Amino acid sequence: MNEPTLRVCALYPDLMNIYADRGNIAVLRARCLWRGLGFELGSAGLGEPLDPDAHDLFYIGGGQDRDQVSVARDMVATKRAALHAAAEREAVVLAVCGGYQLLGHSYQLGADELPGVGLVDLRTVRTPGPRLIGNCAIECDLGTGPRVLAGFENHGGRTYLGAAAQPLGRVLRGHGNNGSDRTEGARRGNVFGTYLHGPLLPKNHWLADRLIELALGVRLAPLEDSLELAAHESARRAAGL
Ligand code: GLN
Repeated sequence: MNEPTLRVCALYPDLMNIYADRGNIAVLRARCLWRGLGFELGSAGLGEPLDPDAHDLFYIGGGQDRDQVSVARDMVATKRAALHAAAEREAVVLAVCGGYQLLGHSYQLGADELPGVGLVDLRTVRTPGPRLIGNCAIECDLGTGPRVLAGFENHGGRTYLGAAAQPLGRVLRGHGNNGSDRTEGARRGNVFGTYLHGPLLPKNHWLADRLIELALGVRLAPLEDSLELAAHESARRAAGL
């Protein structure tokens, strides 16, 4: 029987990868291969076009403000239309922290306003005040009942969701989108944004499986996950759950 292949595209893997965010890709790869599913990894960097139909999951990690400047402008110029087309056909988009901020309308950095691709109705502003740092846990439901995501956040930008955006989850511990409204991340269809590093998927293997399911339109059988569960439990404990 021909097993499906998960085709992943990493956006700006050299510029948008902090706190070992590339570990998210390693987890997607391992969980596909352990099940006999195929896995292909492509990438698109500065100036490179994006084919919305060539991938099932588009991934962008976190980044420093200075790297976000060049990425934001390039993403709008060379990848915006393709990302909208991919979201339209329900490909999965997963964006972490700095990448998440660029999914919105804009990221205001002092006098500078970085453009976003406008995939999700949200804005981010860098106001004076401490960075939002620490372990974080949220509760979310991606169609399989309430689950916990645990990870680590470190962002200067505060994100505010517009009326058309839905949070990814509700903050149980930590700061979340802006430190005040208890929302964390955002979701629109199969587009997911979150501030959680860790990296995210090694600490929350259930989310990796759910994203693979949504990207391929399959249901996955469970794996022997004792180590993964221990990693998840440890991240929850670190957040104080
Ligand atoms: N540079 C952004 C901020 O500080 C995102 C940081 C990150 O990706 N961790 O808000």
